[in-house]
Amino acid sequence: AAKEAGRDRCMTFDSEMGRAAKERSQIEHDLKEALEQGQFQLHYQPRVDTLTQKVVSVEALVRWQHPTRGMISPGAFIPICEETGIIEELGHFVLTEGCNTLIKWHRAGVKIGMSLNVSPRQFLDDKLMDIITDIASGPEFPKGIIELEITENVLIGDHDLIAERLRQMTELGFRIAIDDFGTGYSNLAYISLFPLDCIKIDKSFIDQLPTSEPIIRLIKTLSDQIGASSVAEGVETKIQANCLAEIGCHQIQGYYYSKPMPEDDVLKRIAELGINEAPNTAVLCAAQ
Ligand code: C2E
Ligand code: MG
Ligand code: MG
Ligand code: MG
Repeated sequence: AAKEAGRDRCMTFDSEMGRAAKERSQIEHDLKEALEQGQFQLHYQPRVDTLTQKVVSVEALVRWQHPTRGMISPGAFIPICEETGIIEELGHFVLTEGCNTLIKWHRAGVKIGMSLNVSPRQFLDDKLMDIITDIASGPEFPKGIIELEITENVLIGDHDLIAERLRQMTELGFRIAIDDFGTGYSNLAYISLFPLDCIKIDKSFIDQLPTSEPIIRLIKTLSDQIGASSVAEGVETKIQANCLAEIGCHQIQGYYYSKPMPEDDVLKRIAELGINEAPNTAVLCAAQ
């Protein structure tokens, strides 16, 4: 009986594996089709200056408008894109679409910055350098105001190679931000070797305020020491915003000011909040 039960379990396991694999290849197929049919779009979330409460930049966040399943969040498909290599093409879309949108906004007088997320596999892909070199050589490329967000775990590995790549990106006119800082496994000793413009303090620390205040102060001090601005992400309440201003974080991003929104809506929100003319940071180059 035990043997039979074991076999049953195995069969269940096998058929579940089969189902998972099937669903997986379906999603993969759907993702490729989504790229071809333009089902991906960018939403934008404002980043606000702590002192003036005005908008300094936006972060572009990708969304999948699925024909039958509706709007799908990146958490559900970025990992699959990473594993299958689809991230290369999706990343290309995000970078070009984001940059083109920003150029359009600048022409219309909306002179703010933009952050774009780069996933770990994308960061290591040689084609990324080709893509961003191409973008940076465009006639209207706004130098010094497009920021590439990479997660801390990207910094683990060959430090010379990583530093060199970051330097190349900086030389092309991109800023570099470390996303979700404090949740990864980077070696703090190396942080100062990299040309970082911004440290984004992970939402988990903001959620734990006021208990986490000493840690946030520590990250803020580290940012100051390496000449990077400090940004708090996932700020949802006035109490959190006030506390972060008191600590001296340069910028704040979160539902408290605005959710990520489609282009037209975010432009309205930016107009309501106002644009920051002289950002509260030593290192951000203002748009001319
Ligand atoms: P992230 O870069 O850390 O982006 C912040 C996430 O937190 C976003 O989720 C945003 O909607 C959410 N968020 C912002 N403020 C608040 C808040 O006040 N409260 C709460 N509860 N959430 C807030 P989203 O858009 O689902 O993106 C999740 C992650 O997916 C991103 O984390 C980023 O790692 C990745 N991602 C998004 N777009 C792209 C992309 O274009 N390329 C790549 N490679 N990754 C992307
Ligand atoms: Mg990000
Ligand atoms: Mg983040
Ligand atoms: Mg995050």
